[in-house]
Amino acid sequence: MGESAVMSPLPVARAEIVVDLAAVRHNVRRLREHTGVASMTVVKADGYGHGLVEVARAAREAGSAWIGVATLDEARALRAAGDDGPLLAWLTVPGEDYAGAIEAGIDLTAYSVAELEEIAAGARGAGRPARLQLEVDTGMSRGGAPMSAWADVVAAARAGEESGSWRVTGIWSHFACSDEPDHPANDAQEAAFEAALATATAAGLHPEVRHLANSAAAILRPSSRYDLTRIGLASYGLDPAPGHTPDLGLVPAMTARATLAMSKQITAGAGVSYGHTWVADTDTTVGLVPVGYGDGVPRAASNSAEVLAAGERRAIRGRVCMDQLVVELDGDLPEPGADVVLFGPGTRGEPTAQDWAEASGTISYEIVTRIGGRMTRRYVDSGDDA
Ligand SMILES: *Cc1c(COP(=O)(O)O)cnc(C)c1O
Repeated sequence: MGESAVMSPLPVARAEIVVDLAAVRHNVRRLREHTGVASMTVVKADGYGHGLVEVARAAREAGSAWIGVATLDEARALRAAGDDGPLLAWLTVPGEDYAGAIEAGIDLTAYSVAELEEIAAGARGAGRPARLQLEVDTGMSRGGAPMSAWADVVAAARAGEESGSWRVTGIWSHFACSDEPDHPANDAQEAAFEAALATATAAGLHPEVRHLANSAAAILRPSSRYDLTRIGLASYGLDPAPGHTPDLGLVPAMTARATLAMSKQITAGAGVSYGHTWVADTDTTVGLVPVGYGDGVPRAASNSAEVLAAGERRAIRGRVCMDQLVVELDGDLPEPGADVVLFGPGTRGEPTAQDWAEASGTISYEIVTRIGGRMTRRYVDSGDDA
């Protein structure tokens, strides 16, 4: 290691995402204790903005048996980074490199007989059997085999197992309304899943894992846990069903912060930012925060979200711009360079990603997944998850 690298102070980050990997480990363990079954930590979309490889590694350290991703690119990136545990991908299109995915030991998900034929060709190319999971559409009408085609998909899957194309390792489905625990779709989907499992058993399939629950269902619906839960959002310490979730002591892992670029006085009647959608009604002070929608700060947070700056909650005034936003400092004039926390765990008075979601008319999933852009990402390990 070069001495200069050790001696020189870290440059100040204009704007950065700080991820506490101890929080991820804590959440993964806490959720497994709560559910009592094995977990698949879902790290699609760059680990919901927290970092694909780093979060997967932390989740494995905390005992997550499986990792789940949407795309084969994501799965391959994990393999390239050295992850060699059970890994499921569930979103592919015709013409994907199935042979390469099979060689990499990635569990593939099929929805249709046509997809099974492509995967069989991939297994021939790879010279080894695939690991294959089947998704059944129990009522979300998104991915998965429709119930009307399920018997055919299962029969073809069983035939491929007998001919050595693959082993069927899992059967699964996905809830549409698990964040609304009283929604009747939940019972209906679970009943449909039971029927789909019975069809598969009757056809001779005996998968290692049956799984249905995402974060909200894993926490709120014990009957949906089966052998494995697929937990994304809650692993990052965020609440998948605000208003319904019991306090499990989960810790938000992401802090989004920036460095104050300037502070200054403005006079009563001054309009702030594009379109002058906010006008000061008294003399006041404002601060320039060097992040905007080009960094994934929602423009919908204009005139609504808050930050923690110079120790206090401060309101965003006027429109969020591409690179910058303005907050009111209520007469204070903190020095440029002061710390501005957009959101974090909420333990030091800062807003949370959930607060930002409510201020922006969205869900915390979208806040953490979209924040980033030109911000740097830094990992810390508070180490207090033991
Ligand atoms: C994203 C996703 C999950 C994780 O959902 P959370 O609500 O974040 O826990 C689980 N399963 C599938 C199929 C998904 O697409």
